[in-house]
Amino acid sequence: MAHSNQRNCNSDNRLPQLAQAAQTILNINDLGNLWTAVTSTFNDLLKPDGLAVCYYRPDRVGQIELHGHNVPDAFLKRIASRPILWQKQQIITKPSSTAELISPIDHLLQQEGLHTMAIFPLSQNAQWLGGIALFWQTAVSLTPDQTAVGELLTRLVTHNIQNIRLFAAQKRALQREQQLNEFSRTLNELQDLPTILSYVAGIAAQLTSANTSKLGLIINDQVMMFYPYNIPTTTTLRPLMRGHGLPWEIVETGQPIQLNRYPDHPQAQTEMVKLGVTAFLGVPILVRDDVCLGTINLFKTAVGDRFHQRDLELVESLARQAGVSIQNSRLYTEFEQRTSALASALIRQEELDHLKNLFVQNMSHELRTPLGIIYGHAEMLASGALGSLENSQKESIAIIARRAQMLTYLVNDLTALMAAETQEMRRELIDLAALIQDLVADYGLQAKEAGLYMKTILPERVPQVNGNLTNLRRVFDNLVTNALKFTPPGGTITIRLWVETKRIQIEVSDTGIGIPAEQLGRIFERFYQVDSHAEYHHKGTGLGLALVKEIIVAHHGEVTVSSLTGEGTTFLISLPLAGKR
Ligand code: ADP
Repeated sequence: MAHSNQRNCNSDNRLPQLAQAAQTILNINDLGNLWTAVTSTFNDLLKPDGLAVCYYRPDRVGQIELHGHNVPDAFLKRIASRPILWQKQQIITKPSSTAELISPIDHLLQQEGLHTMAIFPLSQNAQWLGGIALFWQTAVSLTPDQTAVGELLTRLVTHNIQNIRLFAAQKRALQREQQLNEFSRTLNELQDLPTILSYVAGIAAQLTSANTSKLGLIINDQVMMFYPYNIPTTTTLRPLMRGHGLPWEIVETGQPIQLNRYPDHPQAQTEMVKLGVTAFLGVPILVRDDVCLGTINLFKTAVGDRFHQRDLELVESLARQAGVSIQNSRLYTEFEQRTSALASALIRQEELDHLKNLFVQNMSHELRTPLGIIYGHAEMLASGALGSLENSQKESIAIIARRAQMLTYLVNDLTALMAAETQEMRRELIDLAALIQDLVADYGLQAKEAGLYMKTILPERVPQVNGNLTNLRRVFDNLVTNALKFTPPGGTITIRLWVETKRIQIEVSDTGIGIPAEQLGRIFERFYQVDSHAEYHHKGTGLGLALVKEIIVAHHGEVTVSSLTGEGTTFLISLPLAGKR
């Protein structure tokens, strides 16, 4: 056996064989195939009777992959548990000078009928990756050439392991980048908060190969609620009060926590330990770097499994994106709630308005008839038709009649106001020039009696407007009666009309007492009366200008006022020309 071994190694075709072996090893880019190539190349070049590869998995602490060829599994496991396979530097053969190192497993070798063993450690830059063990049934002494061949092959294998690891790392990085992009895209499309939270919990676990995860969301600054991924339904996920457990520690410090021996930590949660959790990674969900919305908590359950720096970086990036989404979703929900509350309030307001109008209309209707009767009877009494009256009785009757009339005005104004607000107006083409002429005719006598001069300034041709004649008459009645009321004798009331950029402008101005500037903004409000005009209040209801505004707005027009105390007041009405709105 020993002879044939040396003969083969020294034969002339060793170099091409070596070159072939090197090529085979270097062409491989995954570990599974590498172990097959190791077996075949070592078999070809060093002719062992059995071979074993042990490979230390960098991602699983303390875990070794074993691959045997022509050696029973049980034997492999037994020698793998002995320190001999952990030799990191030497090549040992028996019988050689280092034979004593083999003695602890001598009996194991003997049981399998093996006589010689050689180990070529796989190590690079002082990092131990594993070893290749060769077994012979006979006493074999490796020549320096054979040792050199073994060492060379081992170096090539080591070199390729590094390549394969780098390649795998790059592939993983690329995959993660794709998964992260996919994550951002999906996250942007989700709006419902529970869906976002469950999605983030799931993705974070999948991207870090965690077995389970839970996303903790802070509620009212005091409690953390959990959204699980892959946690058995039999496990109860209790909310955590502020200050309790690892998640709150992450929130308080704003720093991630990574544990390779989770069960040993004093804050480890019993239910998670029961699930067999070994490693933990927890990351805060921060927005704007200072507001913490919750935590992402990841768990691994395989022995020796741990989280790496790249997992931490990845989950931190997920947490940042999740933070923005959670924030947006909350703002969106808040916005929706507010909008719907506002809409309900508006609907309620409209309902109330409608009810109020109905009430006022009904009341006005009910009041009008009895008021007419009261007024009629008062007039009859005052006329003496029912017998002559004493002076004091006449005065009382006059008061009753005046007040009854005031109430009638009020009821009329209210009815008109409600009608302008709620009813669709019948419209017709209106000649405003004629309307103004009628107005002057109607109020001319009253003005004269009050010592006032009334004048109109009209263009030769006045274009028509589209509107409701009764209502527009009401507008000018109100403006002219106010002007008459608030202008001392000797004053002038002017009604001027002109056309300006497709609108008709009508101005009613007087040289009366004017309206104080600070109250000017309120005179169109219902029931508003200027304080300093108290002596005139018995003649009005405070509804006239509100009605004016209501009617003009219903005509798609505008009404404005300007006034100077002691000098006079001007109301300006602007209406669209017929067909020009
Ligand atoms: P009223 O029935 O009291 O006249 P209005 O709504 O018509 O109610 O007017 C509101 C208030 O605006 C009046 O009470 C009055 O104080 C003031 N006002 C209206 N028109 C004039 C005006 N031409 N000159 C001075 N004050 C006016």
